[in-house]
Amino acid sequence: MLNRDRIYLSSPHMSGLEQRYISEAFETNWIAPLGRNVDCFEKELAEYVGSKGAVALSSGTAAIHLALLLLDVGKDDIVFCSSLTFVASANPILYQGAIPVFIDSAPDTWNMSPEALENALKDYAAKGLKPKAVIVVNLYGQSADYKRLKDICDEYEVPIIEDAAESLGASCGTQKSGTLGKFGTFSFNGNKIITTSGGGMLVSDDMDLLSKARFYATQAKDPARHYQHSQVGYNYRLSNVLAGIGRAQLQVLDDRISRKREIYNFYCEALSEIEGISFMPDAVYGKSTRWLTAMMLDPDKIKVSAGDIVDYLEQYNIESRPVWKPLHMQPLFKGVEYYKHSDNDVSRELFEGGICLPSDTKMSQEDQMLVIGKIKDRLI
Ligand SMILES: *Cc1c(COP(=O)(O)O)cnc(C)c1O
Repeated sequence: MLNRDRIYLSSPHMSGLEQRYISEAFETNWIAPLGRNVDCFEKELAEYVGSKGAVALSSGTAAIHLALLLLDVGKDDIVFCSSLTFVASANPILYQGAIPVFIDSAPDTWNMSPEALENALKDYAAKGLKPKAVIVVNLYGQSADYKRLKDICDEYEVPIIEDAAESLGASCGTQKSGTLGKFGTFSFNGNKIITTSGGGMLVSDDMDLLSKARFYATQAKDPARHYQHSQVGYNYRLSNVLAGIGRAQLQVLDDRISRKREIYNFYCEALSEIEGISFMPDAVYGKSTRWLTAMMLDPDKIKVSAGDIVDYLEQYNIESRPVWKPLHMQPLFKGVEYYKHSDNDVSRELFEGGICLPSDTKMSQEDQMLVIGKIKDRLI
């Protein structure tokens, strides 16, 4: 049994087309950050999501960092951020010496709660303060409810950075994920729906700010023959070789989304009948990619914990994970302010009862049936 390959949460899945673009980079000796693959990858991704422009970067974290920089976030500025997310959503707030404030999730979307956001903005306005930006995260392939979040942010005139690292290809109304804020950020890390092994993208309709992003991402070189610098810069550009992988991956993104959604549906059909099990709800306003299938255990009906199931699956060489530990519960952010959805701390409840199941697009139906069988063995 343990001799078979490990079943992963979400691992790189090449299309077979990558080698062509990599070879082109080698043959033309463009083994550099920048080059034709970078230019084309930016253009192709911007076209896919429907943004005016895009800047290819070394990571999704770098994209969030540059978005904050371009919104002039600096020391002691306030930035609101979703609590239920990976730490990379908020680390760049600390890079800038700014102060994070965390916002809870809504139970119907698992994404930022409009109620909690409104309370936080109201509270800050009463103190004569307002955040420089709100980082809204789209969790596990599903867009947040931008119709509501944007109305609230517009009222208080606060720009949105959309952390769409987990939701490339998802939609919100008629728009693609990543295009609903002032900036959108994507990641091509190895676990994401498409990957370049590591990489990221910053998108926006503001071409001036995007050219500033390119400037900061290449060490902030002033226009001069000699190397001259007036500002702090970063080495954040994506390599031309990796951009080649991204171009090929982008061509199979829609196939990957279909497969991810199939995996989600199969889990739902097989497990929803069990009393106390539910799945991350489908938001009514958009279409999720189901990057990861997230399952919820009701502690009143099921005595087995999420952690027990993760450990049990591990014995069979199956990777699963608890839902993100909310940032307001992390030692790194001890003492940071947090706004709950209601009397309930929704993100804490999701963390305590939630599990991300293997959602690897390379996984066979047989593999998935094995995962389902093991979950049932542990529960029933
Ligand atoms: C993966 C991820 C990031 C970071 O992307 P990197 O490319 O690994 O830097 C940021 N935010 C979220 C929500 C993520 O899942």
